[in-house]
Amino acid sequence: MAQIAPVRLTTLADLSRHGYGLSCYCPRCRRWAELDLPLLARTDLAQRSVTDFRPRCRHCGTPGEKQLRPPKRWEGPRARATYAHYAARADA
Ligand SMILES: [Zn+2]
Repeated sequence: MAQIAPVRLTTLADLSRHGYGLSCYCPRCRRWAELDLPLLARTDLAQRSVTDFRPRCRHCGTPGEKQLRPPKRWEGPRARATYAHYAARADA
């Protein structure tokens, strides 16, 4: 059986590559900010583990509370494989 490569979500680059989002909440300012993961993945922070990454509020410097956001829903074309599709290929 073929090996399936595991999906690792350890570093900021991993999250960016797999389409995740990372938001941050400042409990002092009560402000949310969405981090630019593709941008962070191109900096020295790319290989920083998500758990060690401690962003601070841009306004007051308070450590933020991170919230991981799942990848956005696929909005491309729908899969075209149908039963008829498979039946046609089976006859070939
Ligand atoms: Zn703040």
